[in-house]
Amino acid sequence: MNITVIGTGYVGLVTGTCFAESGIHVVCVDIDEKKVEKLRNGEIPIYEPGLDVLLERNMDKGRISFTTSLQKGIKNSDAIFIAVGTPPDEDGSADLKYVLGVAREIGQHMEDYKVIITKSTVPVGTSFKVKAAVEEELANRDVRIPFDVASNPEFLKEGSAVDDFLKPDRIVVGVESKRAEKVMKRLYKPFLMNGHPLLFMDIFSSEMTKYAANSMLATKISFMNDIANLCELVGANVDLVRKGIGSDSRIGNKFIYPGTGYGGSCFPKDVQALVRTADEYGHSLEVLKAVESVNYRQKSVLVEKIKQHFGKNLKGKQFGLWGLAFKPKTDDMREAPSLVIIEELKALGANIRAYDPVAMEEAERILGSKIEYAKDEYDAIIDADALIVVTEWSEFRMPNFRILEKLMINKTIFDGRNVYDPEEMEELDFTYYSIGRDAVV
Ligand code: NAD
Repeated sequence: MNITVIGTGYVGLVTGTCFAESGIHVVCVDIDEKKVEKLRNGEIPIYEPGLDVLLERNMDKGRISFTTSLQKGIKNSDAIFIAVGTPPDEDGSADLKYVLGVAREIGQHMEDYKVIITKSTVPVGTSFKVKAAVEEELANRDVRIPFDVASNPEFLKEGSAVDDFLKPDRIVVGVESKRAEKVMKRLYKPFLMNGHPLLFMDIFSSEMTKYAANSMLATKISFMNDIANLCELVGANVDLVRKGIGSDSRIGNKFIYPGTGYGGSCFPKDVQALVRTADEYGHSLEVLKAVESVNYRQKSVLVEKIKQHFGKNLKGKQFGLWGLAFKPKTDDMREAPSLVIIEELKALGANIRAYDPVAMEEAERILGSKIEYAKDEYDAIIDADALIVVTEWSEFRMPNFRILEKLMINKTIFDGRNVYDPEEMEELDFTYYSIGRDAVV
């Protein structure tokens, strides 16, 4: 089979590479010429563990290629995956201009039957807008070419995207014809070896499933953050509470770790977009509105602790910051809590020297000279009044505290991911703040 993937970001590139790995011929299309040039040279523009090896192997086998021409890219394909961005519009709803732009271009150039699949996260009903856009372009050309639309939301996680794609928990596909269902079944057969289901449903339900999944996950995070903050007020320890509730199989122990709020390119925008969709239908999603406001507040929780410790004027204070991307194992800085922390600390006069194992280049692109960039985690804390830990990279879990002691001015740590053990910190004589474990009573 031949497929085309349009958009070579985190989702498109992983999708294209993993399909190529299963033996399918893939053409990836992107409008970004520099990106396509890099990819043709075997360079990967993003950080995603395992992707480099897979891409190299499939490029060597001639199963994956890159172009900026959608017309050429779709020529021989049986199925076209649209995997371009759907950033939030000014009012929080998903901006569909890239998705619908691609749909129109497909309509302008397709010559034979295709299944046109929306892989981007899109509001309910978008696949039918894609269908209408293609039909309109075909009508403009005065041709009648059969095609089907399908919805196939992506559930991969940045940082383990390749693994998630190759061994998915489930694959969700929304279709409206048997012909499209057959094509999707053939495409995904190689990925079902671990026994997880390929779930066919109607297109509305498929589109809704993606938003409901991300919103549920964001809800778990905000719920736990709110509970953590209350733990501090009542003198409880959120670690123990987490274990206590997580061992109930109805609740489960995943995704209930408190922190500095969710970020990234998906949860914030998807929760916002679902709230907007509901508003459009005259339904107020009260739970998700609360999820958003708790998250907004949580991004400042470490800064509040820093202010309580050092006072509101941080002029001349030096902070070491570990972790810049929104989570470990990715260079994605979109909506990262570190950005809010940096902004707020800078406004109070602080200096920040930061380190992230893979997001330094991306951070510098976004933050410029606002902060200093360290060459490693120890370089970041030289002469620091305090260390701030924002993401739980494994290399931050067991630092040499003797080196920290030597390099820092003050032995103070603000831990936004509960990476360290409060008892050990006390033994080492560090002043230690974390989330949901600092009793204020
Ligand atoms: P991204 O911003 O990393 O990549 C989008 C790519 O599309 C860019 O390379 C851009 O140049 C390209 N593009 C834009 N317009 C184009 C056009 N007209 N023709 C060809 N290429 C074009 O985005 P992403 O993170 O991969 O997300 C893509 C979609 O998948 C979004 O809807 C997102 O919500 C969804 N999603 C993302 C993730 C994730 O973890 N990043 C997970 C699941 C779903």
